[in-house]
Amino acid sequence: DKADNTETKDVIVMGTNAEFPPFESVEGGEYVGFDIDISKKIAEKLGMELKVENMQFSSLVAALQTKKVDFVAAGMTYTEEKAKEVNFSDNYFTTTQVIIVKKDNDTIKSKEDLVGKKIGVQAGTTGEEESRKIEDATVESYDAGYAAVMNLTNGNIDAVVIDQKPAERFVANNDKIMILEEELTTESYAIAVNKDNEELLNTINEVFKELHENGEYDVLYNKYFGE
Ligand code: GLN
Repeated sequence: DKADNTETKDVIVMGTNAEFPPFESVEGGEYVGFDIDISKKIAEKLGMELKVENMQFSSLVAALQTKKVDFVAAGMTYTEEKAKEVNFSDNYFTTTQVIIVKKDNDTIKSKEDLVGKKIGVQAGTTGEEESRKIEDATVESYDAGYAAVMNLTNGNIDAVVIDQKPAERFVANNDKIMILEEELTTESYAIAVNKDNEELLNTINEVFKELHENGEYDVLYNKYFGE
């Protein structure tokens, strides 16, 4: 028997890769971001305590399948391939893959110019998938987006392909790089759960519905993406 009588809530575990601002990152030792706030709403709805498991993006699907985590909120793009392995909630964010280059680069102006170039990506992402389709390109895959950006700044690679919102953050903090106007893809983020967990999926979709209806989605949107 427990010696103390503190009230303990059941824990729900969110899997993520907290190197993807403004969706998830670590600031002052705390997990913060749009996905973190949404996940707190999910935990609240369940009357449970949220625990964050931070890992590499490429490990998240396996973590769901082995039930190391209950759901994944990680700016994860819905793809047909992933939907064979996990179940996805309703889409909650529409965005694009963009190309980052150095401002002083004079060879890459559009997607076509990536042919034969060295492209940095985050491992296991749709940005990696898209980059591997580019003819004769060498794809360098890093654990984190900012590592790709660092290698771009250092001149080790010619471009980075990554999600639009983190790209905007990286560019805002680095005056040597810029985002090209032409985008690679349009895609949608969704929360993923284990194929077994129909009930949790329904709850997550209910939470999204409520957040849209009561205006809290817009509040969160403005908090992280407003001007
Ligand atoms: N949206 C991209 C994907 O799902 C990248 C997500 C991320 O790096 N956190 O592949």
